Amino acid sequence: MKTNLAEYIKSTPEGKEAESILRTCVHCGFCTATCPTYQLLGDELDSPRGRIYLMKEVLEGNAVTAKTQMHLDRCLTCRACETTCPSGVQYGRLVDIGRNIVDQHVSRPLSQSIVRTALRFVLPRPALFNPLLRIGQSVRPLLPSALKKKIPKPGKSNTIWPALRHARKMLVLDGCVQPSLAPQINAATARVLDRLGISLVAAEAAGCCGAVTFHLNRQAEALDFMRRNIDAWWPHVQAGVEAVVITASGCGTMVKEYGHLLARDPQYAGKAARISELSKDLSEVIFAEKEKLEEVLGSSLAPRPSSPPPRVAFHSPCSLQHGLQIRGMVEGLLISAGFELTMVPDSHLCCGSAGTYSILQPELSQRLLKNKVDALESGNPGMLVTANIGCLTHIQSGTSLQVKHWVNILDERLS
Ligand code: SF4
Ligand code: SF4
Repeated sequence: MKTNLAEYIKSTPEGKEAESILRTCVHCGFCTATCPTYQLLGDELDSPRGRIYLMKEVLEGNAVTAKTQMHLDRCLTCRACETTCPSGVQYGRLVDIGRNIVDQHVSRPLSQSIVRTALRFVLPRPALFNPLLRIGQSVRPLLPSALKKKIPKPGKSNTIWPALRHARKMLVLDGCVQPSLAPQINAATARVLDRLGISLVAAEAAGCCGAVTFHLNRQAEALDFMRRNIDAWWPHVQAGVEAVVITASGCGTMVKEYGHLLARDPQYAGKAARISELSKDLSEVIFAEKEKLEEVLGSSLAPRPSSPPPRVAFHSPCSLQHGLQIRGMVEGLLISAGFELTMVPDSHLCCGSAGTYSILQPELSQRLLKNKVDALESGNPGMLVTANIGCLTHIQSGTSLQVKHWVNILDERLS
């Protein structure tokens, strides 16, 4: 695609990056076939190709309007278009740059600004999010059903963390909302890795990966979350941890980008690149230890279950299959552990969670959720599993089946 970027942007690092991405797009439109918003709305401007065209217009200095902002807001950043694109267009990076510029030109209505600020302020801070969640859970029975569904029921969690007894050590990202919503995920990860001869370490000073803030277009603020994590993790990296394990694939895609996003920060560039290199989705870590896992599963250490394990449907989050381009690993591990996986039609499509999308675009999000739940339930599974806390809570709000992180059922199988 030919481009002629406007003076104000063309010499900036973002302008140069956006221009090189725009030039890889040949406008073939293959990506429209797998775009969830285009499938729902049928409007070219709600497809990847249409949004690329809108962003080109903005970057070339043409008028930026609320309509441009609306079509970019409706994008889930699911990156299914990247998986489909034969030319390797890095749509995710382009839309991050494009949205940021559009938000600088188009102010939002007050109500939208308040909601976005509240999300930015509360979600990345467990000290605020946790008490608010507990209040919400205590009044949950009194809430209207639409709101009730958005607040997960309180439940018992196994948060027992094994002693750090192995020479092999890995760090884990604690994250922001996950410790409040599902503390059992990282604890189960620690127990499973312990059985595989790896001790999992949590660095207390680390927290939100920065994704919530970044995708709400406060990118400079998000870089501070990233720097804080790097500072918290660095002593452990120097002590020789083998990996930074991420149990929420949405966070995993963000940490993989630390190196790129902090490349122009002389103090953090090298460290950020090293952290991105060390960051691994949990499925990659356990898949690399599959032989050992099968040994443990086959040994007397893992008693045979008295009844067959339930048939499960796996929802592969967009961040896992499109963002990190990891496919088949979770499925392979669950099959090794004796689970039967049911077929999930259109498994490439987003569930509608997409970070804060379910709150900011409720109508589209609910339509995607219904389609996803129908697809997941179509093979009559006994349970649903996934790999990202956002998808987990969102899908749980639309089904009566139990939804778990896959590591929890693997942990149960090993216990
Ligand atoms: S993003 Fe890729 S698939 Fe979509 S129009 Fe451009 S080149 Fe074609
Ligand atoms: S990221 Fe997802 S919603 Fe956005 S344009 Fe690509 S496929 Fe469509």
